[in-house]
Amino acid sequence: MRLVLLGPPGAGKGTQAQRLVEKYGVPQLSTGDMLRAAVRNGTAVGKRAKAVMDAGRLVSDEIVNAIVSDRIDEPDAARGFIFDGYPRTLAQADAAGSMLSGKGMDLDAVIEIRVDDDVLVDRIAGRYTCARCGAGYHDTSLEPKVAGVCDKCGSHEFKRRPDDNAETLRTRLQAYYKETSPLIGYYYAKGKLRSVDGMAEIDEVTRQIEAVMEAAPRKAAAGS
Ligand code: AMP
Repeated sequence: MRLVLLGPPGAGKGTQAQRLVEKYGVPQLSTGDMLRAAVRNGTAVGKRAKAVMDAGRLVSDEIVNAIVSDRIDEPDAARGFIFDGYPRTLAQADAAGSMLSGKGMDLDAVIEIRVDDDVLVDRIAGRYTCARCGAGYHDTSLEPKVAGVCDKCGSHEFKRRPDDNAETLRTRLQAYYKETSPLIGYYYAKGKLRSVDGMAEIDEVTRQIEAVMEAAPRKAAAGS
């Protein structure tokens, strides 16, 4: 399974990707997570990306394409993956297409998660993750079953992203509409686009995505 989750910040791409990882056993390839790891580890890429990310702008295509190209060569991605937050520009979409076709692979589907802008600020301002396992939570809509304890791994430590604030969100949304939303037409023209209602309950969105996956034609490439 090779899937792209497309949608504005706060659409639920990460939450849905985690569920798909559990169900289908393929890794979530989040370029945001990879870049945040690079920043944390103080790598050359991290140093170049940090200020851009803090401002809510997009990191260069060159950097992002390079980290994705390395990542999809790792053994756990051989059976497939879920792209979360990639591609994010037309140039990245072209690069992703070339990368995959060079390996005899193709995308099965691109799933657009549709959400109204006015809910995005609330969703983003309230979200946080487990600092140990990365499970996602929200102050009002998705709290841990036991307050302060991660449902998945029992950790007591949680963290919030520095770019999850109202001001940076504005820039991130502008970047989405300017750079990323043209991918909707791009993948529609390739017959790959499917849309789900990201305003629905989390479980319902998962059901819609799974229905799309069951219907998507699987490519015959190695390990599909
Ligand atoms: P995300 O976790 O997907 O919201 O990404 C967080 C930030 O990382 C974005 O606001 C960008 O600065 C950067 N980023 C993540 N993925 C990409 C990408 N595919 N292209 C450019 N910048 C990206």
